Amino acid sequence: MQDLPTKKRIAIFGSTGSIGTQALDVIRANPGLFEVEILTAQTNDELLITQAMEFRPNAVVIGDDSRYQKVKDALSSTDIKVFAGETALEEAADFDTYDMMLAAIVGFAGLKPTLKAVEKGKAIALANKETLVVAGDIVMQKAVEKRVPIIPVDSEHSAIFQCLVGEVRNPIEKVILTASGGPFLGKKPNFLVNVKRDHALQHPNWSMGAKISIDSATLMNKGLEMIEARWLFNLQPNQVEVVIHPQSIIHSMVQFEDGSIKAQMGLPDMKLPIQYALAFPGRVKNDFPRLNFRKNPNLTFEEPDVKTFRNLSLAIEALNTGGNMPCVLNAANEIAVWAFLRNRIGFLDMTAMVEKTMQHVAFIQKPTLQEYFDSDGEARNFAASLINL
Ligand code: NDP
Ligand code: MG
Repeated sequence: MQDLPTKKRIAIFGSTGSIGTQALDVIRANPGLFEVEILTAQTNDELLITQAMEFRPNAVVIGDDSRYQKVKDALSSTDIKVFAGETALEEAADFDTYDMMLAAIVGFAGLKPTLKAVEKGKAIALANKETLVVAGDIVMQKAVEKRVPIIPVDSEHSAIFQCLVGEVRNPIEKVILTASGGPFLGKKPNFLVNVKRDHALQHPNWSMGAKISIDSATLMNKGLEMIEARWLFNLQPNQVEVVIHPQSIIHSMVQFEDGSIKAQMGLPDMKLPIQYALAFPGRVKNDFPRLNFRKNPNLTFEEPDVKTFRNLSLAIEALNTGGNMPCVLNAANEIAVWAFLRNRIGFLDMTAMVEKTMQHVAFIQKPTLQEYFDSDGEARNFAASLINL
């Protein structure tokens, strides 16, 4: 009889990003628990090669196929398989040889490989929230069908997930997502209109990739997380609430039907939810800095200012409307953030772009997967046309 592998074999899709590199830190610290099976990057061939040489996966994928030869040559002394291109990502997600996918690609691009892994029956550690924002109903239905666990990596959802352990029979009254408020908490439109990219990229509590940092500054991130929470925890839109908590110590809360509220807390460090998702259902000892309440005595809470941070109201509108609206919101937002990061539009123009696109694209109540892809394409084209991209 063959020995069963004892280490969990992890496929990291988006290994060169903020989540991907922190996941590799967790894996490096726990060589007895995890091994790396697949690594993928889009353009960062240098880092992908370095990671591959260190972790010796079975396969790597570089999304940008013009970089294939460079990666292939650099790994020629190893038996690591090298693939390139968008379809190779889906093909790798279809491999038998891994146990869990860490979905850490940013944006809509993460949807297809993640869905493929779900169809393949693989456990998912989900960082790529856009997957659920775009097609949450289809992805979750498939996960139930295939009995695939989707363990959230997003810190708020990890908090809620952790609060729900041991509560399977107890309905949720509501979940309360905490938001730091981002770098512009308390600011008004007359300030925001002049905000530039480098300032918006400076998050007070978290160090993250560029796209999510901008989403955090506009509060779109919290809106995307509301939609993510709705699907992950099978909630109605009115069961998802947001509260501003600038210290980011309480990562989120669940209120049960008896009014009792459970919270999960800790210092803001993404390595903890990443490690929790990779190791679930176990907890793994680590040496991350500990929260000391005496040094963090002030935990404060306030209403989000949705009149100033209108991206959050637009996301709530999309959440309530349902259908393809969250997909349209997400697509327009990806174009808007892309354009803002290249100094093509201003901070508040991002909201205008998302709003106009939501008004323009035809509403579909119950889209098929293909209709989600079509809505995404239509929304991107329309958003881009607004600024002659
Ligand atoms: P990064 O931008 O840091 O990394 C993104 C990763 O995806 C990189 O490996 C990148 O490759 C790859 N990638 C980018 N575009 C494509 C594409 N078109 N096709 C395939 N791969 C691509 O993002 P983050 O790590 O910050 O975020 C990843 C996901 O996790 C996002 O959905 C984000 O919302 C979510 N998340 C992130 C948190 C954080 O703290 N960073 C917290 C909670 C959620 P390359 O390096 O070559 O460009
Ligand atoms: Mg989050």
